[in-house]
Amino acid sequence: MIPQSAKQVEPLSLINYTSLPEDWRTQLREAYRTPQQLLTALGFNLAQQTALSAHDQGFTTLVPRAFAQKMRPRDPTDPLLLQVLPRVQEAIKDPNFNDDPLQEFRFNPVPGVVHKYQGRALLIAAGHCAINCRYCFRRHYPYSDQKRARNEWQQSLKYIEQHPDIEEIILSGGDPLALTDPKLFELITAIETITHVKRLRIHSRLPIVLPQRITLELCQKLEHSRLNCVMVVHANHANELAADVAQACERLRQHKVQLLNQSVLLAQVNDNLASQKRLSERLFELGIMPYYLHLPDQVAGTTHFFVSLERGQSIVAQMQSCMSGYLVPKLVREEPGRLSKSLYSPC
Ligand code: SF4
Repeated sequence: MIPQSAKQVEPLSLINYTSLPEDWRTQLREAYRTPQQLLTALGFNLAQQTALSAHDQGFTTLVPRAFAQKMRPRDPTDPLLLQVLPRVQEAIKDPNFNDDPLQEFRFNPVPGVVHKYQGRALLIAAGHCAINCRYCFRRHYPYSDQKRARNEWQQSLKYIEQHPDIEEIILSGGDPLALTDPKLFELITAIETITHVKRLRIHSRLPIVLPQRITLELCQKLEHSRLNCVMVVHANHANELAADVAQACERLRQHKVQLLNQSVLLAQVNDNLASQKRLSERLFELGIMPYYLHLPDQVAGTTHFFVSLERGQSIVAQMQSCMSGYLVPKLVREEPGRLSKSLYSPC
């Protein structure tokens, strides 16, 4: 059940977004690319900056200003800041955390395609994102090896053509909406010509972190596609869902794009009942169904985000006791070698 209108939604804050450029590509070019730029914009002095940030471990800082403006100034515990700021804990080595915790290479039949689930194939449409989330399970992914698929896609599309059981294409990345409209439309048009493909699922964090990306042209392309289009957005905290995001979601829904959310349960960010409850309620106000709550993948450099299965189950059980069932996301975890997500009941 998707609510019909998000027009009455009030913004969480009174932040003035009019200082941001209209064009999303300009916003992306102007994103913060060092911890110092970001922390300066948030009002931290030099000594605080030195104490807070650390080496990026080869995964560069990237934070759009529209996302940074939703952070609380001079608050080192801000849940949005914690998702994007390189911290000293990233240097911690733990044998249980590695570069490819999901072993995706085992399901990579041709560059740019992950064919793991029956009936669905994931196509890596872009090798970059609009934001670099420090907990990302693909932070070590060899995107450069997939360059041919990114630039041409022919090999990927041929593989999909040769597998008539594939009814759904999942565009992932990186972030597929980090592609420009002409490039993305070229890919969608090519997928539309494969007759056995029925559904297009776009996994993207851009509607949340750079909502100006949701252009009218993009919405029209999705609305007029012969494919049923679903967009799975990625918000982890209600503070991400301000007025500009509400507008982008409303536009997508007006163009008949179904919206679901997947989030990641992250220590110190959202691993408590109050945060999860507020997130689900805010998603629903924006016409987005809370769908999956992922336990974090055990990727190298992310030990400080780890939340145990038992803790996740306890939070979901608490949600179930005080919220309508449709507001409670499914608790899931990706396990290496398994052909589907593991679904966990609350305890
Ligand atoms: S937007 Fe998604 S793929 Fe990109 S860094 Fe964040 S979690 Fe990873």
